[in-house]
Amino acid sequence: MKHRSPFILAQMTTQNLPSQGYAEDIQRVAAALLAHSGPVVVMAHENPDGDALGSVLGLSRALRALGKTVIAPMTVPQYLAFLPREGEISPPLTEWPAGALAAVLDVDNNDPVRVAGADLGSLSGPVVNIDHHGTNQRRATAGVVDPSKPAAAMMVADVVDALGAPWSEEIATPLMLGMLTDTGNFSFDSVTPEAFETAARLRAHGAKIGWLTDGLRQNSPSYYLLLREVLGTMEFTHGGLVVMARVDEAMLKRAGATWEDVESYVGLLRNAAGTKLAVMVKDYADRVKLSLRSRGNVSAQNVAVALGGGGHVPAAGATVLQPYAATRPLLDAAIDTELARAALEE
Ligand code: 5GP
Ligand code: MN
Repeated sequence: MKHRSPFILAQMTTQNLPSQGYAEDIQRVAAALLAHSGPVVVMAHENPDGDALGSVLGLSRALRALGKTVIAPMTVPQYLAFLPREGEISPPLTEWPAGALAAVLDVDNNDPVRVAGADLGSLSGPVVNIDHHGTNQRRATAGVVDPSKPAAAMMVADVVDALGAPWSEEIATPLMLGMLTDTGNFSFDSVTPEAFETAARLRAHGAKIGWLTDGLRQNSPSYYLLLREVLGTMEFTHGGLVVMARVDEAMLKRAGATWEDVESYVGLLRNAAGTKLAVMVKDYADRVKLSLRSRGNVSAQNVAVALGGGGHVPAAGATVLQPYAATRPLLDAAIDTELARAALEE
């Protein structure tokens, strides 16, 4: 079990400074990284996605190019395993390295349960945070948090510039992965003009976009066999405004699949016409993990927060520490509340 001491951590090592503005925050983050002579542990959120891995690889490679000692502990999902080079990513740390700085990417460093790779409860050194989640508490030694950025990797690109690290394809490609992942291949409204500008810079630095998308499009046969099972549970609720499906261990077993195969299903559900909220229920028997996606003025984030989770307005999640049968009424009630709120707004 991970240590839960965000407040102690915050008091010891962090300050709650107001943001100085994006460009200044980026400079401060780069300065904190450059000033640190010891090792840098680069981490992201549990259940890492392309933005988490891409941000970690991009920053790690830039720091290594500057001669820094970097430890990048992560459990890389199979579908992203084609990206890291041999020895570049290490297994989760069991002990915090002496004198190390923590660089926490694409997740709030004040949420040690969500931060993966090391136990932040045991950390005493400086913490740098680069994140784009609106729910971020903004307490770090140096941090840049900007929810208007569609991907953390886009912010890391600005840090790489501020570090003065030599750009290469090796740095640009994983950062492009992060941007592709969190923008749905540049198809979401979260894509700002600046996002295209950053993507253009990464492409100019050699980012291998075709290689990335080809690698990402491959699905294992078990992905399809499990999808067949999961689609059997699909239901339209709340007057057709919500689409839901559920997956449990027994289905995984029948399909020869893993939990990883489930990750993209919520993206398929959210394409159901007429729905405003898609919910993928991962039923772990003793607890339930919810993946939520919304459109229009419905907020997946509001539903997630009501259930103890968080995330972005259109994409959020929560873990409820109760079996599915007990979770479902809570979920339905949270959805009712959010749909009523959204209807009032119209
Ligand atoms: P996903 O559904 O892909 O797991 O997560 C969607 C978004 O919600 C991601 O940005 C993720 O960081 C966030 N998220 C998912 N689960 C949780 C959770 O339990 N707590 C918080 N705070 N955020 C979550
Ligand atoms: Mn992200």
